Amino acid sequence: MVEIITKDSTETKKIAAKIGQRLQSGDILALEGDLGSGKTTFTQGLAKALGVKSRVLSPTFTILRQYKIENNKFNILNHFDCYRINGPDDLESLDITDLWSRQEALTIIEWPERIAGILPKTALKISFETLSGDNRKITLPDTLSL
Ligand code: ADP
Ligand code: MG
Repeated sequence: MVEIITKDSTETKKIAAKIGQRLQSGDILALEGDLGSGKTTFTQGLAKALGVKSRVLSPTFTILRQYKIENNKFNILNHFDCYRINGPDDLESLDITDLWSRQEALTIIEWPERIAGILPKTALKISFETLSGDNRKITLPDTLSL
């Protein structure tokens, strides 16, 4: 695991953009960390770097937002926020496993702990921790390190 400290949201977005270069189609990112630790901010930086044109908003109330990506690796970003989910049954209306098994997709899941039972083992775990002030600690697997 690699730990990175960022001092503001711009730095977190830059890290996300770099990690974006390491990602492959079909990848699933599981973003762990408390409210306000920077998961959505990270996703915004990643989305922008990958060529998502529209503004990325937190999907807290909708659970899933999807964005078109126009680059040569992905054609869609699935952004899940499972904060309001009590378990996998709450997702029955969304064919969630179908969505993230599509090869041309990149899937990002906030609050993956809520759906631990159905989270694919291949999901790449990134953890966010709020330190003092605006500092955030981001912990990533070695395979994504910069
Ligand atoms: P989460 O999705 O984990 O709940 P958000 O990304 O929505 O968190 O919110 C993080 C908040 O913290 C934003 O208001 C952001 O501007 C602020 N912030 C301050 N410093 C940082 C940092 N180093 N990295 C990311 N966000 C930061
Ligand atoms: Mg969020």
